[in-house]
Amino acid sequence: MKINILKASIRRNPNAGKTLTVVPGRLEIKCTYTGKIPDYLKDLIQITTQRRSFDKTESVFYWIGEVPPQLLQDKNCRIEYKQEYIEHHHLPDPDYFFKYENPLIECSECKKKSRFEIIENDWVTDDCQVYICPNCESTDGYPEFEFQSIAEALSQREEMGVQK
Ligand SMILES: [Zn+2]
Repeated sequence: MKINILKASIRRNPNAGKTLTVVPGRLEIKCTYTGKIPDYLKDLIQITTQRRSFDKTESVFYWIGEVPPQLLQDKNCRIEYKQEYIEHHHLPDPDYFFKYENPLIECSECKKKSRFEIIENDWVTDDCQVYICPNCESTDGYPEFEFQSIAEALSQREEMGVQK
């Protein structure tokens, strides 16, 4: 039995062929505090470096998570954000996005019809897959499933007069 691609679900992927995805990683929040550290902060921070000159003290600490408004509004605190990015190299992104149809399929063992998406499958060996009936748990109740290729779905869609 063939599971077809829903023609209306086919979308061209704007990132087709892309092999690099950049995602935000760690956000470093560096705070430089001039003067005496206020009491509310003392238990929340760990000062990493401190510079003293004759008229002032500068303390550096790193903040993890959301900076509280009180600290954001504190004129004695200078906050610097440094966003790190992580590069993911991967196989080329597909040319199209699509969904498969979700037909009702009858189990030949118990005769109950189930939607394809709720039928679980299991690999018996590397190339042998079985489908398990959600009703009677039989692995013999379904035919072999084959998935339509995107190339075939596109040519069918073209025959229907839809532009690629
Ligand atoms: Zn069944």
